Amino acid sequence: MPGKSKKRAVRSFLQVANWKMNKTIREAHEFIKQFMQVHTSSNQAIWFAVPFTDIRSVHDIVQGNFEVGAQNMNDATSGAYTGEIAAQMLLEAGATFVIVGHSERRKYFHEDDAFINRKVLRALESSLKPILCIGETYDEREDKATEAVLEKQLSEGLKGVSSEQIGTCIIAYEPVWAIGTGKTATPEIVEETHASIRNILEKLYDAEVAKEVCLLYGGSVSAVSAQVLSKTPGVDGFLIGTASLDPESFAKIIALSENDLAI
Ligand code: PEP
Repeated sequence: MPGKSKKRAVRSFLQVANWKMNKTIREAHEFIKQFMQVHTSSNQAIWFAVPFTDIRSVHDIVQGNFEVGAQNMNDATSGAYTGEIAAQMLLEAGATFVIVGHSERRKYFHEDDAFINRKVLRALESSLKPILCIGETYDEREDKATEAVLEKQLSEGLKGVSSEQIGTCIIAYEPVWAIGTGKTATPEIVEETHASIRNILEKLYDAEVAKEVCLLYGGSVSAVSAQVLSKTPGVDGFLIGTASLDPESFAKIIALSENDLAI
């Protein structure tokens, strides 16, 4: 593998709100206004993955306090792809990151690892930070296939991503059985699975590089589970769906996760 990226001493916990197909521009403004009133943390990074139509207006009202990104994009730079959106369009609207390979995209829109990989590469080339989502289904966990599934999603999704670029990528471990179901993975499962993801990254890159990759957990994170999960070894942040739709519950999760990560 080519040269190593620089080492960071400390990184802040990363909280990513995934609003999915929720909130009009008006509702997004209302959310941000209320969130600013209840949010108190100063040492965490807070990102909002919003619908395309909200990116510009949320970017303008958060005034650099938080990052705003998209939940999907196409790998093509432009062209006859009705209904799709390109990286440059997101960048010019104010996005700094993009979620790629969310399990809902894999399931409902039949996205495969090769397509997801092309999106990751396009995002990196365009200076958008990709959040690559990976995770096993309930049956795959029951069949003890979790590690094999994650290894495939990582090796195929990160094909062609260099050691320098991997530091810009964020990996979100989202067990499919925990998304939107209210069934949070236990801290033991999260710790064990995050460790195995780091092992896979070590095999794909090396130990130093693997250590630097920001690894999020996602799947029914709530004010009840946030405190314990945020202290679980190997967890660098959360990707939050349902609980990020309400300003108070999102702010509460952030308040309960207050910490700095030494790496
Ligand atoms: C998600 O869809 O990324 C997610 C984690 O959703 P929820 O928090 O609702 O499980």
